[in-house]
Amino acid sequence: MISPNGSQPCISDYALTIKIAIFAISMENLQAFKSLISSPKRVVIVTHFKPDADALGSSLGLSGYLIKKGHDVSVITPSNYPDFLAWMPGNEAVLALSNDKPENEQKAEQLVDDAEIVFCLDFSSLSRINSLGEMIRKSGAVKVLIDHHLEPENFAQFVQWTTASASTAGLIFELIEELGEKAMIDQNIANCLYAGLMTDTGGFRHNNTRQKEFLIASELVGLGANPHETARQIYDTSTLERLRLTGFVLSQKLVVLPEYNTAYMTLSQDELKEYGAQTGDTEGLVNYGLSIKGVKLSVLMYDRKEEIKLSLRSLGDFSVNEMARKYFEGGGHRNASGGSSKLSLENTLNKLLEILPEYKIQLNKE
Ligand code: 5GP
Ligand code: MN
Repeated sequence: MISPNGSQPCISDYALTIKIAIFAISMENLQAFKSLISSPKRVVIVTHFKPDADALGSSLGLSGYLIKKGHDVSVITPSNYPDFLAWMPGNEAVLALSNDKPENEQKAEQLVDDAEIVFCLDFSSLSRINSLGEMIRKSGAVKVLIDHHLEPENFAQFVQWTTASASTAGLIFELIEELGEKAMIDQNIANCLYAGLMTDTGGFRHNNTRQKEFLIASELVGLGANPHETARQIYDTSTLERLRLTGFVLSQKLVVLPEYNTAYMTLSQDELKEYGAQTGDTEGLVNYGLSIKGVKLSVLMYDRKEEIKLSLRSLGDFSVNEMARKYFEGGGHRNASGGSSKLSLENTLNKLLEILPEYKIQLNKE
């Protein structure tokens, strides 16, 4: 399902890529990719900013596979990530960019500069990875995009992309399978991929969960993935502070607007500090809004100091991707998107309240 895509952006390229990704396995392209990775290369794998379990799990899963094939692999994340992902095999070698470690920026630049192949996983636009985006854009490496987000940017020579897949981890599994090397997936790789599949389907509950997600999950369990242990590491390793934060948000901060079938919550810097919030502690909060009967749109807004971060979730055909793109410089999937705002928290909320009337009919549709 890999397609060479060397030319500059044009609509028909997207169409071709999408068509190939969804409907056909192009053996010719797969052969070219196979030959690219058939001899040891210097490889860099990059995730999106604040990687989640799918971004990190797919990257470490792919990394595990490529290392076994003899490649020299570095995984770089454009930011830090939650502690509940640190159990993933290979985590210790990840180069995470952060303000606390300015020297990592230079290391990343060197690695990208030296790389012969750069994989971009679980994001589709170089603008989502800050300074790394420019490094990759100007690098001479062969670029490979593997992703399932809407509206991909055309910058890669090889693309494995489809929004039909619930997770990037699932796409990595399918790619390794298409390469005829499923047997190389060991327990460590399987656990990383399973984690991405499990979280991006919300524990196999979201409407992106096809039969195929279960089939891939079953294969991964057959190859050694441990569903209980993976779920425990990700969902049941909260700190007491994180649970208290959740309690505070649910009891004090969750607001429902019945006329728009919308729920929202805001969290200021002071509130986050009061509960000692760490990276990842806000993950999942937005889903509580959608668990209320009748609610079709849920929005979490929190102050990340440099900007206000938004998480948006929806039910059915209401597209938060459209809303995030149009108003909050973001995007993602139809029912799960993110964005940001340079306004204050209060004004970001006001902006949301101002745009809701535009969506009133859609939000009130049966
Ligand atoms: P979350 O709300 O969990 O941060 O993100 C939900 C989905 O939207 C994820 O698939 C994530 O990759 C995507 N996403 C989050 N923030 C952004 C953003 O600022 N821009 C874009 N394009 N996608 C985002
Ligand atoms: Mn994903």
